[in-house]
Order: sequence, then C-alpha cells, then structure tokens
Amino acid sequence: MVVKDLKFRILIDNTSNAGLLTEHGFALWVECDDKIILFDTGQNTDNSGILFKNAEALGCDLAKVDMLVLSHGHYDHTGSISEFLAINPTVSVVCHPQALLAQRYSIYPDKAPRQIAMPEKHRLAIQSLPDEQVRLLSEAEHLFPGVGFSGAIPRKHQQEDTGGPFFLDEAKITPDLIHDDISMWFETEQGLVILTGCCHSGLINTVQHIQSVTREQKIAGIIGGLHLNRASEQRLQVTCDALTDWQPEFIIPCHCTGEVAIDFLKAYLAEKIIDGGSGLIKKVC
Ligand SMILES: [Zn+2]
Ligand SMILES: [Zn+2]
Repeated sequence: MVVKDLKFRILIDNTSNAGLLTEHGFALWVECDDKIILFDTGQNTDNSGILFKNAEALGCDLAKVDMLVLSHGHYDHTGSISEFLAINPTVSVVCHPQALLAQRYSIYPDKAPRQIAMPEKHRLAIQSLPDEQVRLLSEAEHLFPGVGFSGAIPRKHQQEDTGGPFFLDEAKITPDLIHDDISMWFETEQGLVILTGCCHSGLINTVQHIQSVTREQKIAGIIGGLHLNRASEQRLQVTCDALTDWQPEFIIPCHCTGEVAIDFLKAYLAEKIIDGGSGLIKKVC
C-alpha cells in the first residue's frame, strides 16, 4: 500500500533560509495521509525552546502528533522530549532500544570525552511512559501502511566509513557502533522516500537495506542528515555515483551532511538538490 499524501516541514536544522531558529540538530514534521509523525526533536541544550517556537511559526500543533520516532539516541536529536511529552502525553514513541543508552561519548584526540547520549531527563520521561506507548524495535517493520522503520542497518559497503570517535565509555574501551541509527521510508507511487536522521550507518548501506526489506528499488527522494562532514573524497564520489544510479527526484541534505559534501553533491546533481534548513516545506505527493 502506498501513501497518497506526504508532506515534510523541517522544524529544526543547522541552517535556515526561512528566518527560523537554527542549531546543530534535527527535527522533522511529517504529514502522511491521516497521521502526523515527529521525527527527532533537535537539541535545545541552550533551552531556547526552538522546537516549540519553530513549530508555532510553521503552524504545526505538536499536541496533534500521533507518533514520535527517534532516529537514534544522540543529544542533538532528542532534546525537548520531556517538554514535548508534557503537551502530548499520549503520543506513541518508537526507537531502537539502544537509543536509550545512558552513557555514550565522542572522544577526539587531545580533547576531553564529551557525553553525547540522550539527556537523562528525556530518557527517564520515555522510560516512565506506559509500556504500550513505547515500541523499542531492533528490526525493520511497518509503523503504518506504507510507512517503515528500518531497524538496525547492516554496515556492508566497503567504502562507507561508518566509524567515528564514538565510545560507550570514557576510557575508549568499547566503540559505540550506533546500532540504534535508523531511518524511515515512505512508499509512494513514485518509489521510496527515505528519511534519515544522522545516517551514521552510511547512505548507501541505509538505502540498500531499505530496498532489500521493501523489495522496491526505485528511490523517489531522500531527506535528512547524511553525515558526510568528514567523508573522504573517495567516499563522496561513491555516494554521488550511487545517487546518480538511484535517480531520486529530490535530495534534501540536512544537518550533519557538511558544506563540503553538499557542494560536492551539487557539482554532480545540482538539479536534484534542494537546500534543507529550518522552515523548509516539501510536499512530495
Ligand atoms: Zn548522531
Ligand atoms: Zn546529528
């Protein structure tokens, strides 16, 4: 079954062409047939209330959200959850179980470890919801007809370096492989629309995984963070080649894609790329 109506509004992104608030984070409002999905909630570490202010500016009533889906459990995608649950206490919450990990760090050489897990108050707010309100999913499945949750994404592609300075402990003993990084898909008449959060699993791995679980090859569009900000030129080229093969009608790189990567993609696929940013509205169908 395909979705008939699909519209995205970017509530939070690193930039904005619409004069809305920005931060290093991501949140997307999805209108899909008769459902409203909130995908991530941004960062809000400065307590600016960015999610609520931008939602109001875009005419999005957060109390009407049917389902909150978390792309993964990093702080820049999970701020404001407890405040959001206060105004929408019955919303369903869906994420991979490891999105609720309490300890996870990014540790760069010669820098102090930085805690980047979902802030504790938001984790506790989810954990205190009734069991039937929270779905912790490791595998791919449909959330609504034509709307899918990827589950953990296998890291198969040789050229996609999906590592990073991520650890589960400050002593750098256990790498954090970010298995909770999931994407969503929407089945439309034009093909699959893929929605990524940070895409820590790599775009090619993500798309190929979703193509395999849906048995649909056609990619109609891609929106979200592509995590290419430290990618080698070789990886950027391989990603560009894959996008050229898939021939999506639109690509909306957001959040952690990185300016260098966006310029690289534009050099090959300029007519397909739409700049993301807080306030962007994209009606797909
Ligand atoms: Zn992340
Ligand atoms: Zn991120």
